[in-house]
Amino acid sequence: MTYTPDSARYDSMTYRRAGRSGLKLPAISLGLWHNFGDTRGLSTQREIVRRAFDLGVTHFDLANNYGPPPGSAESNFGRLLSSDLAPYRDELVISTKAGYTMWDGPYGDWGSRKYLVSSLDQSLTRLGLDYVDIFYHHRPDPETPLFETASALDAIVRSGKALYVGISNYKSEQAAEIARILRELGTPLLIHQPSYSILNRWIEHDHLLDTLEEAGAGCIAFSPLQQGLLTDRYLTGIPDGSRIRTSVFLNESALDNKTMERLHALNDIAKRRGQSLAQLALSWALRDPRMTSLIIGASSVGQLENNIAALNGPELTAEELDDIDGTVIE
Ligand code: NDP
Repeated sequence: MTYTPDSARYDSMTYRRAGRSGLKLPAISLGLWHNFGDTRGLSTQREIVRRAFDLGVTHFDLANNYGPPPGSAESNFGRLLSSDLAPYRDELVISTKAGYTMWDGPYGDWGSRKYLVSSLDQSLTRLGLDYVDIFYHHRPDPETPLFETASALDAIVRSGKALYVGISNYKSEQAAEIARILRELGTPLLIHQPSYSILNRWIEHDHLLDTLEEAGAGCIAFSPLQQGLLTDRYLTGIPDGSRIRTSVFLNESALDNKTMERLHALNDIAKRRGQSLAQLALSWALRDPRMTSLIIGASSVGQLENNIAALNGPELTAEELDDIDGTVIE
């Protein structure tokens, strides 16, 4: 059936500015790392993507290697673009990345100009697009000079194949350095994509938000639900079809006794606030206004809706924040 988006799609979503750029992103964005490869039916993928757009999610995050198999998430999203979303291209912010292993040989990985330019060309072919909105370097490369990576990103923007550039998984110091080079080249760093959740607070110790604020860049956190741990998914067992059962990126050892105890304590705090554990985790990760957006994953429309409803939750009080910190079990 022809897709007609909800005409109220911009009524309730919150949009936050990415650093000191002109671009605003939805406070919750949808990531296609899992659930959009060839192992999940296209009809479920379509339902999730359509519902996201209906709820004001304008930003969809991809990478060359998302699947499985690698590349298939871009191909599947390309199908959904052509069947459903193509008329709304100018309402969408589509990102992709290169930086992890994508093809054999010395040119299919890391951060050379050779890899970044050819990988983006392949991504555009799979997506069926002329340009992406944000192109990321997916992880720092210890061998390629930062200047080469930065100048490849700058050249990509000048070629018209990306509108903005981002980095992911860079520590503060490296982020400040590449931001400086990019500024000098004339293509300011739009955004940084680090991991961040109640269970993973490295960016606080690394003062990443201060660094990005100084650079004028935004921040968009990935895995704010710690791949599903910070939800009700595993509170009473491990369901069939859950990420622990279906992915190599999360395994049962993540559910040790201390973590389970902590998840239950966090769930009690969430209940007192009238929220699900997932909603508490998202409210918490968005508490600093410098956090432009969170990229969530969802394997169903129900999960997506539950997560987006976090934006209607009450502000976290200082006491609740202390309670959340107090759930750390030594
Ligand atoms: P999350 O931490 O949001 O985990 C998503 C998973 O949690 C879902 O697949 C689902 O698991 C479960 N879940 C989500 N919502 C609910 C809910 N309301 N109730 C119960 N369970 C729920 O994020 P991801 O780890 O999926 O990462 C999100 C995105 O971040 C990726 O798609 C990608 O775009 C980006 N990313 C970037 C990386 C980088 O290096 N730059 C690395 C990793 C991710 P289940 O499948 O079990 O249902």
